[in-house]
Amino acid sequence: MTKWVYMFSEGDATMRNLLGGKGCNLAEMTKLGLPVPQGFTVTTEACTQYYEDGKKINDEILAQIMDSVTKMEEIAGKKFGDNENPLLVSVRSGARASMPGMMDTILNLGLNEDVVSVIAEKSGNPRWAWDCYRRFIQMYSDVVMEVGKKYFEELIDKMKEDKGVTEDTDLSAEDLKELSAQFKAEYKNKLGEEFPTDAKEQLLGAIQAVFRSWDNPRANVYRRDNDIPYSWGTAVNVQMMAFGNMGDTSGTGVAFTRDPATGENKLMGEFLINAQGEDVVAGVRTPQPISELEKIMPEVYKEFVDITEKLENHYRDMQDMEFTIEDKKLYMLQTRNGKRTAKAALKIACDLVDEGMIKEEKAVEMIDPRNLDTLLHPQFDPKAIKEAKELGRGLAASPGAASGKVVFTAADAKAWDAKGEKVVLVRLETSPEDIEGMKAAQGILTVRGGMTSHAAVVARGMGTCCVSGLSEIKMDEANKKFTLGDTVFNEGDAISLDGSTGAVYPGAIATIPAEISGDFGRIMGWADQFRVLKVRTNADTPEDAKRARELGAEGIGLCRTEHMFFEGDRIDAFREMICSDTVEEREAALEKILPVQQGDFEKLYEALEGNPVTIRFLDPPLHEFVPTEEADIKKLADAQGKTVEQIKEIIEGLHEFNPMMGHRGCRLTVTYPEIAKMQTRAIIRAAINVKKNTNLEVKPEIMIPLVGEVKEFKFVKDIVIATAEEEINNAGVKLDYEVGTMIEIPRACLTADAIAKEADFFCFGTNDLTQMTYGFSRDDAGKFLDSYYDAKIFEYDPFAKLDQVGVGSLMKMALDKGRPVNDALHFGICGEHGGDPSSVEFCHEIGLDYVSASPFRVPIARLAAAQAAINNREGK
Ligand code: ADP
Ligand code: MG
Ligand code: MG
Repeated sequence: MTKWVYMFSEGDATMRNLLGGKGCNLAEMTKLGLPVPQGFTVTTEACTQYYEDGKKINDEILAQIMDSVTKMEEIAGKKFGDNENPLLVSVRSGARASMPGMMDTILNLGLNEDVVSVIAEKSGNPRWAWDCYRRFIQMYSDVVMEVGKKYFEELIDKMKEDKGVTEDTDLSAEDLKELSAQFKAEYKNKLGEEFPTDAKEQLLGAIQAVFRSWDNPRANVYRRDNDIPYSWGTAVNVQMMAFGNMGDTSGTGVAFTRDPATGENKLMGEFLINAQGEDVVAGVRTPQPISELEKIMPEVYKEFVDITEKLENHYRDMQDMEFTIEDKKLYMLQTRNGKRTAKAALKIACDLVDEGMIKEEKAVEMIDPRNLDTLLHPQFDPKAIKEAKELGRGLAASPGAASGKVVFTAADAKAWDAKGEKVVLVRLETSPEDIEGMKAAQGILTVRGGMTSHAAVVARGMGTCCVSGLSEIKMDEANKKFTLGDTVFNEGDAISLDGSTGAVYPGAIATIPAEISGDFGRIMGWADQFRVLKVRTNADTPEDAKRARELGAEGIGLCRTEHMFFEGDRIDAFREMICSDTVEEREAALEKILPVQQGDFEKLYEALEGNPVTIRFLDPPLHEFVPTEEADIKKLADAQGKTVEQIKEIIEGLHEFNPMMGHRGCRLTVTYPEIAKMQTRAIIRAAINVKKNTNLEVKPEIMIPLVGEVKEFKFVKDIVIATAEEEINNAGVKLDYEVGTMIEIPRACLTADAIAKEADFFCFGTNDLTQMTYGFSRDDAGKFLDSYYDAKIFEYDPFAKLDQVGVGSLMKMALDKGRPVNDALHFGICGEHGGDPSSVEFCHEIGLDYVSASPFRVPIARLAAAQAAINNREGK
C-alpha cells in the first residue's frame, strides 16, 4: 500500500519531492527539536492521484488522512470536531519549489458556532475566539468556495467605520461575533447553503482546495516563469494552530537570517503583536522591525535568535522563517532558503564561502542564473537623477531603475504593455491576481506593505523594480489618479522609481547600464572554472560585441549581416541592389555596400580581440527592405534611373505568400550569387586588414543559413571558396577561414551526415528549427499560446525554452549523423535558447561546443553552463 500521509516526525529535509518544501522543512525542524506545532503532510503523489482520480480524494488516501488526524489528536490532547476540547488546525499548501503566495492557506479550521461559544467562554478570551472564527469563515469562503475576499473586507471596513476605529485589533469580541454572523449570511447569500459546521467536511474541503489551487491561473503563470513542471503537484500540510491573536503577549512574524535585498549578514524581519497569518505580509497593519521584539519579550527574542542561527548553520544558506508567539511561547511555522535579489544572492554566496560554510562549487550552484538579469539592468543616469525632484520615499523593495506611464490595474498594465507602452503599476497593495500585470510593468509602486509584502517578494523574484509602502500617496483608484506631495498623477502620466533607494520621481528619467560588483566577478570566475561549454554572443554591432566581451563572451556565435543594412544611407544602396533588373546593376549597387560592410566587420574583429566571429550571410526575404513611403520609392527610382511604376512593379514582384518559408537564406544566394560574393569579399578583406594592422589572429567563420540539402550548401560554399581564395591570393597573405551552416530546417538534421562531409561547423538556429519543426511561426504563436497553456498542451513557450523532446531530438540526430563523418566538425547553438538556463543544460548534455546568447544573457549562459557541468559530473 502506498504511504500517502506522513506525520512531521516521520519525514526530513531529503524528502522534498514527496513532502514539498514546507512539509519537508517542518519535518526537519521537528527532527532538530525545534518548537513546531505538530501535524502531518499529505504527499505530492496524493495530489497527482487526486487529479488522476478525476479530482477526488480516494478512500485509501482518505483513510490515511483520518488516521493521521487521530495521531495528531493524541499529540495535542485535544479532539478534532469536539465542542469541549477542540483541536483547531491550519491547512497549508507546499510544493517542491517554493511558490510564494501562489496557493492558499486556511487557518483555524474545525470551528463552528457551538465550538466558538465554548472556547470563548472557557478561555476567558472571547475576542480571540471570535477573531479566529471570523478569519476562518473568511478564508474558507475565499479559498474553498471561491467567494472572493472583497465582500468580507468591505464588511470589516464598514464595521470599523461604524465603531469609529482604524485597526482590526480595536474591534471587540462583540463586533467580531457580529462580523462572523454577517460573513455567514454573505456566504449563504452567495452560495445558497449554510456554512459547513462539520470539522471533517471542512478539512476535506480545504485539502481539496489546496490540490485545486495547484491548477489556478496564477500558479500556472508562476510555474511557467520559474520552470516548475505541472506534473510535480503540491503537498498539503495539516498542522495544529498556534495562536498569535490571543492578545498583547501573542504575535506573528517573518524573518530572514540575512538581508534579502543586500545580502548583509544581519537578522532582518517584521512582526505584529496580536495578529495572525498573513496580516504581516498583506500589509493590513504596518509591522514592527524584529529588533523591537527584544524590548517587548526578551526571552522569546533570544530563543528566536538562537533558532535562526541554528537553522542557517544547519541549511548553510540564508533562511526565510515564519513564526508565531502564543502567549509568550514561540512556535516555528516555516523555514526555507530565502528568496533574494541577485545582488544579495552573490554577496551571500561569496560570504558563505569566506565564512567556510560552503565550497565554491556550492556557491556557483546557489545562484539562479535567471536572476542575474536584474543586476545587468539599468540604473538612473546620475546626472539626470541629480536634477530630478524626489517626491517621496517608500521602501526599497526590489532594486533597479524604472520609468513608465502610470496605470492602476494589472489588466491595464498588461494591455498597455501589449501596445508597446512602458508602464509603472501603482496599487494600494498587490495580490497574487496581479501577477501578470506586475510582469508587464517596468516597475511597481504600492501604498501599503512592508519589505515582505506580496509586491516586494514577487517583484524581487521577477527582477522588477519595486517601491512598496509609500503611505503618503493619496490614492483615488476610482478616478484612476493619485496625489503625492503636491503632484497629481493621472493614468498615463510618466513616473520614475528607484527600487534601490525607494525614491519616486515625476517624469521619465534617463537610465544607464548596470555596473557589476566584485562578488559578480568572483562567482563568474568560479563558474568559468567548472563549465565545459564555451559561451559566445549574438551581436551585430561593435558596441554589442564590446558589451558582450565585458560580460565574458568568448566569441560571436551569430552576426546577422542584414542588421547592418538598415542604418543611415546604407539602406539606399541596399534597396538599389534589390531593385536591380540585371546582374550588372546589382553588382554596381553591391560595390557601394562592400566597403561599408567590410568596415563593420573590421570593427567587429577588433572588438573580439582574436576570438572567433561567425558571420551569417544575408537571411531575410528581400521585401523586408523595400520602401513603402511614396517619397522613398521616388528616391529609389531616381537613383536607379527607373520610373516609380517600374520600382513598384519590382516591389510587387517580391510579394510572398509565406515569407518565413519563402525566398530567403541560402536561396537568395542561389538566385543572386553576387550577394554571396560581395559578403565573402567583405569578410575576407576585413580579416586580412585587421590581421595586418593589429596582429590579432582572425579566423572568420562564414555561416550559410537555411540549408536543407547538401547541394544547396555545396553551391554556396563553392562561391565562397572561389571568392575567398581569390582575395587571399591577391593580398598574398595566409588566412584560415571556415564555412559552416546554420542547422535550422528539419531536413538538415535528417541529412546531416551528407552536410557534415562539406561543412566545418553546425550551428543550431533553434528559432527557425522550432518554427519549422512545429510548423508555426514565432510571430503568430502569441495568438494561440495562451489557449495552449490553458488546455495544458504546452507548459511553456517553446521559443523561450527549448523543446527537448522534439527539436532536441532533431539536434541529437544531427550530432549523431555528423560526428562520425567529420572529426573536425564543431557545434553551437545561436537561437534565443542559448541564453535560457534549462536549454543551456541540454546543450551541455548533448555535447555542443558552445552556446551563443544575446549580450545581457552571456553571464546567465556562463553560470547555467557551469551548473550543468557540476550537475552532470555528480551524476545527479
Ligand atoms: P504561504 O505558503 O503563502 O506562506 P503558509 O502556509 O505559510 O502560506 O501560511 C501563511 C501563514 O499562515 C503563515 O505564515 C502563518 O503565519 C500562518 N499559519 C499557517 N499555519 C499556521 C499554524 N499552524 N499556526 C499558526 N499560524 C499558522
Ligand atoms: Mg498564502
Ligand atoms: Mg509561508
